[in-house]
Amino acid sequence: MTARSPDSAAPLRLARRIVVKVGSALLVDADSGRINRAWLETLIDDLLRLRRRGQGVILVSSGAIALGRRRLGLKPGALKLEESQAAAAVGQIRLAHAYKELLEAHEVTVAQVLLTLEDSERRRRYLNARATLESLLALGALPVINENDTVATAEIRYGDNDRLAARVAQMTGAECLVLLSDVDGLYSADPNKEAGAQFIHEVRHITPEIEAMAGRPASQFGSGGMAAKIMAARIAVAAGCHLCIAAGSHPHPLRRIEEGADCTWFVPTATPAAARKQWIAGTLRPAGAITIDGGALRALLEGRSLLPAGVTGARGRFDRGDTVSVLTGDGVEVARGLVAYSDADAARIMGCQSSQIEDLLGFRGRDEMIHRDDLVLLPRAAVPEQAAQALPP
Ligand code: GLU
Repeated sequence: MTARSPDSAAPLRLARRIVVKVGSALLVDADSGRINRAWLETLIDDLLRLRRRGQGVILVSSGAIALGRRRLGLKPGALKLEESQAAAAVGQIRLAHAYKELLEAHEVTVAQVLLTLEDSERRRRYLNARATLESLLALGALPVINENDTVATAEIRYGDNDRLAARVAQMTGAECLVLLSDVDGLYSADPNKEAGAQFIHEVRHITPEIEAMAGRPASQFGSGGMAAKIMAARIAVAAGCHLCIAAGSHPHPLRRIEEGADCTWFVPTATPAAARKQWIAGTLRPAGAITIDGGALRALLEGRSLLPAGVTGARGRFDRGDTVSVLTGDGVEVARGLVAYSDADAARIMGCQSSQIEDLLGFRGRDEMIHRDDLVLLPRAAVPEQAAQALPP
């Protein structure tokens, strides 16, 4: 769809939580190889404006390799993996320093978080990374994220911060992700080659035609180009997050989007919370099952969490964060959810009060076996007659 909605920038104004990604080409001056400070100050000004409006802000920043390579005297052109790892180590410290200086001048605490692909793909690490980001935001810090390029090797790296940023948006339930780079959005064809190339303002479905517009994926060592941005859009919209591809080289790039500058918006069909529940409900093979008593079933039907007290059994092998089925005493699956304990720990605390968890396990976990935000009731058809009467129509 090429048409533009009247208030396309609304997600940026209204999102509770926003992830902004800046590319190396914006941050690092091509001639001097140094940070483009004057521009960065305008971006930071924009980010702080969002925070003042009460929006949670996370920045995903590239630039480590671009900054470090010059300092190490590496020649222009493609780098070997070890060279880019070394460059990232040198550049990241400079990048972090610049953010600290610029943000602390405004009394904002900056937090550096370096992630690897595994931190978003492995359930356990994903949960840890998510918890860290949640705590940082709750404590008022501004997380600045990059890939941990120094330790990430070829097969286990993102290589592009577009997809990394989409994972971060998914992980943190952000409603809006803005990718700022040296392109202003998606065109129907290469505007440098085809005079009739049209600018695409809004994408509601990522069709094969849209993918074809992105062209071929860039090499795994460079940043990903438009193909990586489309992959990022897939991840973001599946998580219920709006994604915007916009030109970042102008001063105040975010304010510019709000003022109506051309950019491409990818629009999701669900909210992050609904998308997450769809994803939980759609798990093909739950790792295990938890059986509950009648009191717990009533609580679930009223929209409450599942507490250890209402659990009567645990089956299968599962870990914290895995999807499990929730069964009634007769073995009917009534819900699915992300469980907060492993099968062994669940068996130890079932039937007990949440206040006893620390004594029983030796650590203070969550009060809930499955928190209501992580729990989806299955459709009416799957719920037994008696319980179904309590379900909303
Ligand atoms: N993580 C890389 C860096 O900081 C950038 C990856 C990208 O360009 O997307 O240099």
